[in-house]
Amino acid sequence: MYNRDNVFYKILNGQIPCEKVYEDAIAVAFHDIHRCCRIHVLVITRGLYINFADFVKQASADEVKSFFHAVSHVANMLGVKDSGYRLLMNSGLDAGQEVEHFHVHILGGEPLGKKLK
Ligand code: AMP
Repeated sequence: MYNRDNVFYKILNGQIPCEKVYEDAIAVAFHDIHRCCRIHVLVITRGLYINFADFVKQASADEVKSFFHAVSHVANMLGVKDSGYRLLMNSGLDAGQEVEHFHVHILGGEPLGKKLK
């Protein structure tokens, strides 16, 4: 069950500031507070979903499509379309998901290597 006591819910509601780069009816994108490479932006849903599986299960097909279009649009806006980028979706304990509100990391702006660690 979605728990509103999380930092992204507070960002969506304006209780916590963020360095916003994009927003539309479905998604909001902002810089990660702990950047792990030159470009590290998070795209979160406006809808209240815990993780990827919850999003895919609960959201309408239109919402899923619009969200991933927004992710692609943000990557283009960030100028990493041609240089390349990595999308990361942490889900659950083993992935180290810190914030239980569905989000995608856009990572790029420099060579990232082939693996995650
Ligand atoms: P995850 O491990 O996928 O849940 O990642 C959550 C991400 O949210 C981490 O990379 C954090 O650095 C980032 N984060 C946490 N609090 C904030 C915040 N207030 N503004 C921006 N990013 C945040």
